[in-house]
Amino acid sequence: KARNPGQSEFQEAVQEVLESVWDMLEERPRYYQANILDRITEPERVIMFRVPWMDDEGKVHVNRGYRVEFNSAIGPYKGGLRFHPSVNLDILKFLAFEQIFKNSLTTMPMGGAKGGANFDVKGKSDMEIMRFCQSFMTELYRHIGHNTDVPAGDIGVGKREIGYLFGQYKRLQNEYTGVLTGKAVEWGGSKLRTEATGYGLVYFVRRMFESLNESLEGKTITVSGSGNVAQFATEKAIQLGARVVTLSDSNGVVYDPDGIDEEKLQFVKQLKNVKRGRIREYAEKYDVEYIENGRPWHIECDIALPCATQNEIDADDAAALIENGCKCVAEGANKPAQREAAKIFMDSEILFAPGKAANAGGVAVSGLEMTQNEMRIQWLRSEVDEKLQDIMNEIHDTCVTYGDTGNSYVNYVQGANIAGFIKVADAMLDQGVV
Ligand code: NDP
Repeated sequence: KARNPGQSEFQEAVQEVLESVWDMLEERPRYYQANILDRITEPERVIMFRVPWMDDEGKVHVNRGYRVEFNSAIGPYKGGLRFHPSVNLDILKFLAFEQIFKNSLTTMPMGGAKGGANFDVKGKSDMEIMRFCQSFMTELYRHIGHNTDVPAGDIGVGKREIGYLFGQYKRLQNEYTGVLTGKAVEWGGSKLRTEATGYGLVYFVRRMFESLNESLEGKTITVSGSGNVAQFATEKAIQLGARVVTLSDSNGVVYDPDGIDEEKLQFVKQLKNVKRGRIREYAEKYDVEYIENGRPWHIECDIALPCATQNEIDADDAAALIENGCKCVAEGANKPAQREAAKIFMDSEILFAPGKAANAGGVAVSGLEMTQNEMRIQWLRSEVDEKLQDIMNEIHDTCVTYGDTGNSYVNYVQGANIAGFIKVADAMLDQGVV
């Protein structure tokens, strides 16, 4: 804490990982001897820079840009760029630290990083966004590269922003390489990247239930959010025979007890991705209940998939979920369950999958995008889907191996943290004091 004053999000993330790995460390003194704990919690490099840009009226603005290159023990730095007013060094260090272990779990050679700027894309014109992205890349380009650091999108950074960032990188560096992922499929992106996080989440949940000899057929699922992860988690859940009864946005939640079918989901995609409308319009169109400012966690379900944002499940919500018979919570978003909520799930011994395992499908397919770029080929959708399923199953099984608590309960949080940690720590040991 003395080393990172005021960085509460980062401190909390470190604390969670340390609590999980503590007992394991006792059994592996070589980690102590090499002071792995101090080294793994200190970023290899943090870059902070000025991003000046001009709006459509000719007024000059300044934002702060960041890239936290946290750990490159198992591969080039990899992690998203976030453009949002809430971005600061604390949040990015927390996200980059989590990314180390998530990437380690994917089975692919990717280190951990995160970056972005305190820039609000909402209300900006296309040209303002382009000028901002070009200014951002004019500094960032010298720190990244397809063998060094490969950023991706995150909140506020979608295909449009990746396009502008890539264009500027190519112009400055005069090379066409896979330096960014999340590119459009037509010029270097991977098929299925858009669907990967949501699909991967449901593949992970399917595997959890398989270990209980159950399928997703007929299960009732509550989903929060209605953005990328929520839409494709819903799509895959429907395909596997489950009944998804809720979606939400930052204004409220819709509850459709009959279940959201393919046609209704098409309406949501159109509403959210094209019209940029509110989820309330779903309730008006299909004549179902709309709960203003509500969250889906007090509605009866077998499985809850929080896919909106961090801290969206508090202790009361967690207690309500358990009370209503929920058997599984799997995090589509990053850290949607507050610390106390996560503790309630684990104490109640329901299936609880942390985001770093359950939502790793997105970065896994980003890793596959890097592979395709290096090979200068593009795999079929079915090939990527097959690889994604294999990876999610593998992540699940690794969590089970390391999350075994001695009785029949699997602690997936512990499993994910330990497995992710060991691979990175061993690589650091192999590479000496660097
Ligand atoms: P989107 O921006 O596409 O969607 C986010 C959704 O969450 C929107 O429906 C948004 O509603 C809603 N939301 C945002 N803030 C709140 C809030 N305070 N209360 C209720 N709802 C809210 O993002 P993604 O779907 O891409 O990402 C969702 C989460 O998943 C994030 O935590 C992200 O970091 C994580 N994630 C995403 C990956 C990806 O590949 N996309 C990969 C791994 C993790 P509104 O429309 O009102 O803003």
